[in-house]
Amino acid sequence: MKDGIEQPTRLVNIRNISGLHGIRETEQGLTIGPLTTLAEISDHPLIQSQYQILADACGHAATPHIRNMATVGGNLLQRVQCWYYRSSDFQCIRKGKDLCFAFDGLNQYHAIMEYATCPSVAPSSAAVALLGLNASVELSSAKRGKRTVGIRELYVVPDANPTKFTVIEPDELLTAIVIPKPAPGTRSAYQKYGEKESFDWAIADAGVVLEMDGDVCRRAVITMGAASPVVRRSPQAEAALAGKPITQETARAAGKVAVEGAQPLSGNAYKLDLFPVAVYRTILLAAGQRDRDPSAAG
Ligand SMILES: Cc1cc2nc3c(=O)[nH]c(=O)nc-3n(C[C@H](O)[C@H](O)[C@H](O)COP(=O)(O)OP(=O)(O)OC[C@H]3O[C@@H](n4cnc5c(N)ncnc54)[C@H](O)[C@@H]3O)c2cc1C
Repeated sequence: MKDGIEQPTRLVNIRNISGLHGIRETEQGLTIGPLTTLAEISDHPLIQSQYQILADACGHAATPHIRNMATVGGNLLQRVQCWYYRSSDFQCIRKGKDLCFAFDGLNQYHAIMEYATCPSVAPSSAAVALLGLNASVELSSAKRGKRTVGIRELYVVPDANPTKFTVIEPDELLTAIVIPKPAPGTRSAYQKYGEKESFDWAIADAGVVLEMDGDVCRRAVITMGAASPVVRRSPQAEAALAGKPITQETARAAGKVAVEGAQPLSGNAYKLDLFPVAVYRTILLAAGQRDRDPSAAG
């Protein structure tokens, strides 16, 4: 609205619906109300101890002031930050026109993978963590009832429909985030890299969930945010770790293959170097072999 892209005729305040707020431990895992703030999530002792990736992601998004106000539901549903989309001076493909200005224009913050129609990148740090945790969201409509959608399926790929960002219908609210209990031996982490240390969205971010059997990684989930229009997993990086011990070598190999097949635009080839480092360092952080990177943002 502030960018002049949407001019709704009616606004509904959902902030005072108490049933949509709070963090609840269940037998299956966690249920988080969409009105829970990013600060409440990152400060929560259970999330800090068992869902570290989510505490990291919510604790390093935006700024302390914003995290105290921003809801996790709003964070998941925020629209892309592409400066052409965000400017009312540009009528781009995501506003129903037929042109993308980023392909031939300024594209240093844009996608390096899985773009064809629009190379804007997934903006939500929380989504990178929640995809790693195999979370889903509950969507509720007064007329049609509730449905459950996985985090990846929540987002519409612009190639499928450039003007739709999520599968939420106009009569639906996001009413819960459901996170399964991590398997025994799970360790996780998230790190975000920015152009500056704080106050900005990621130019590269990585989420890592490692299910460990002693020193050996039984299963890994590697997620990436600012690489593609929709938050993604890297099957190549995951395969590079599965069944192996976590060492500098295996972590570096996983980071390297995370950008396999990437096709940078004119201004963002630096991401081909940045993402492997983000993935490598976040794997070692998750494995407890490295402290949080002082050059990470947030
Ligand atoms: C300077 C700056 C830096 C930032 N850096 C980051 C960053 O690094 N990482 C990151 O992830 N984010 C970042 N953000 C984004 C920020 O975290 C989001 O703007 C914030 O989380 C939005 O939360 P909100 O509660 O204000 O949502 P709103 O802005 O109120 O909502 C966003 C959208 O979701 C809809 N919505 C909200 N809740 C529901 C619901 N329950 N059901 C259906 N629809 C709903 C709203 O109608 C709206 O369309 C940054 C923002 C700023 C200003």
